[in-house]
Amino acid sequence: MTTSPKPEDGPMRAEGLWFEDCGLIIRAEDRIFRVSGAILAVQSTVFRDMLSLPTPENQETLDGRPQVFLLDTTEDVSHFLRAVFCYGFFDPFHSSTKFPILSSVLRMADKYEADELRKRALIHLSKAHPTTLKEWDSIDDTVARAEEKALDIAAIAWQIGADWVLPTSFYRICQSTFEDRIITRHELSDADKINCIKGIRYLETTGVADILQFLLDCYYNCWTSGDCSASRQEMHCNVARLGKYNGENMTVMPLELWRCTHWSNLDVCEDCLVYMKETHKDAQQKLWSNLPKIFGLGDWKQLEAMEAEAVKCRDFTSFSDAIGLRRSPIPIISDTAFLHSPLFYWFILHMIPSDSYVMLFASPSQSHRRPDDIRVNLTSLDS
Ligand SMILES: [Zn+2]
Repeated sequence: MTTSPKPEDGPMRAEGLWFEDCGLIIRAEDRIFRVSGAILAVQSTVFRDMLSLPTPENQETLDGRPQVFLLDTTEDVSHFLRAVFCYGFFDPFHSSTKFPILSSVLRMADKYEADELRKRALIHLSKAHPTTLKEWDSIDDTVARAEEKALDIAAIAWQIGADWVLPTSFYRICQSTFEDRIITRHELSDADKINCIKGIRYLETTGVADILQFLLDCYYNCWTSGDCSASRQEMHCNVARLGKYNGENMTVMPLELWRCTHWSNLDVCEDCLVYMKETHKDAQQKLWSNLPKIFGLGDWKQLEAMEAEAVKCRDFTSFSDAIGLRRSPIPIISDTAFLHSPLFYWFILHMIPSDSYVMLFASPSQSHRRPDDIRVNLTSLDS
């Protein structure tokens, strides 16, 4: 952080991150940023500690002001500083962001201990890498599911200890046919590479077989004489092919192998259909539950505990943290994240069930899981 690279050409001022009335000059590669040290110190413990030290006598200066040299890339520093200083550049989840911004903010916020920003970034990351099958199925964003970024995401998750992201990252990696990229990725340990490749083998064999077993099982209540069975087996041959590695195209992963449209193409009786839907759902849940184990990552419970610890709300000890609380006739909107927060437990201990309340939070940092009001109805929760 204190070494001073000397490029042949002079450094360039960073567009949009040069505030004349601010006194901290940061340099990364060939770019210089002029920002408020005081504001940066509020966000980042590392900057706070660094700026509280006396200025060394041999400190390099620019325009009479000391320069801080960072060894990070210009892109990382730029994204990080924009997230701190530019309103709307990196908003909480529900607002969209782009992967290069997210990865820069994750790296920098972790390195410079900008905890609130780190939490915000982790929530963005976690929403695209859920720990439940229901959430996974609800992700409709092809970008979030894209496997092309999965290696980068896995590398960052390792770097910053976001292990709960890894099962779905590895799952997406397995979707690609680029084992060489896994092998040559220096951020992943040999053990992880081996687990990843074992995972590919498992998913393409046992994973596919288990998930499609419902097409082969015989349902004893079926009243047709073999018609249902013939239709199922024909479908099994067609669909199983999609899950097999062919060396060229992307492999369809077990959880995505059977699509809703397939049901309508099955010529089976109603009883068989009900039975098959249940057994397929069970098989999907079983595979999902095993996903961390397939990649040598423990179980979801451990990973969810890690996630909760990393992105947990600030501990609230009283309602002085909230600027307002009032009874409300407004219909119920329950917020899942809020239901797991410490404030919620304080709330149910101190409030009278059967009333509805609206809580307004005092600052964005307290409501980072949700940018607007959080509303909860105790009557519905009580039942
Ligand atoms: Zn049948």
